[in-house]
Amino acid sequence: MAEQHAHVTPKRGAGAVSPPAARVRGLDRSFGGDQVLRGLDLDLAPGEFTALLGRSGSGKSTLLRVLAGLDADYEGEVAAEGAVAVAFQEPRLLPWKKVWANIVLGVATPSPRDAATAALTEVGLTERADAWPLTLSGGQAQRVSLARALIREPRLLLLDEPFGALDALTRAAMHDLVLNLWKRHRPAVLIVTHDVDEALLLADRALVLTDGRISHDIPVKLERPRRRGDPRAAELRAEL
Ligand code: ADP
Ligand code: MG
Repeated sequence: MAEQHAHVTPKRGAGAVSPPAARVRGLDRSFGGDQVLRGLDLDLAPGEFTALLGRSGSGKSTLLRVLAGLDADYEGEVAAEGAVAVAFQEPRLLPWKKVWANIVLGVATPSPRDAATAALTEVGLTERADAWPLTLSGGQAQRVSLARALIREPRLLLLDEPFGALDALTRAAMHDLVLNLWKRHRPAVLIVTHDVDEALLLADRALVLTDGRISHDIPVKLERPRRRGDPRAAELRAEL
């Protein structure tokens, strides 16, 4: 489900630098007695592409839900400037609404069908506007999910293992698509992935979440196109 969420907008003073797309200080989140996030600090710069790695159960999805405004049951400071959109591993499309109607759900726009079609064109699916979600392939459904996120013009785009369920060829196509969309719209992106190679391929910065905090914050900026077998992969894998 793509969500738009109004967060606190920080005041801009004269000569202030551009505010971060997201700023988190001392974030705590517990479920019962289990403290998943423990004083987590994080800044995401505008337009930065960041990968979030960490073991299963380390709290990556919990952090994304808080950033997306889907979970308000936390302590600490969380601020994101502008619209935030999120896409999950399962696209979570409403099966009783056509593709175009899923994309514009909850979005105020004078001509929703045209807006949805424009977003579908950006993800290479113009001709599926009137399709029913259940007739889409996994890759197509994930493209619709991206279109639904983009139409919200997010300043921060959160992707929670978006390609984890896709085959290798479809994933490769989605990598190209996400990088192209990012270059065109320049949201800050925070993508959760299990795949170190995927993190290095896509992101400028890789974070590792361990024991409820960001334990590693590693710049991975390289010339594009990226190569497989980057030496940093071993360094990152050692932290997982
Ligand atoms: P990750 O995405 O890194 O695999 P999650 O953020 O999904 O991890 O989960 C982190 C921990 O929080 C896990 O132990 C999980 O069981 C727990 N958790 C997450 N959401 C809930 C919830 N709604 N209720 C209870 N426990 C939860
Ligand atoms: Mg998760």
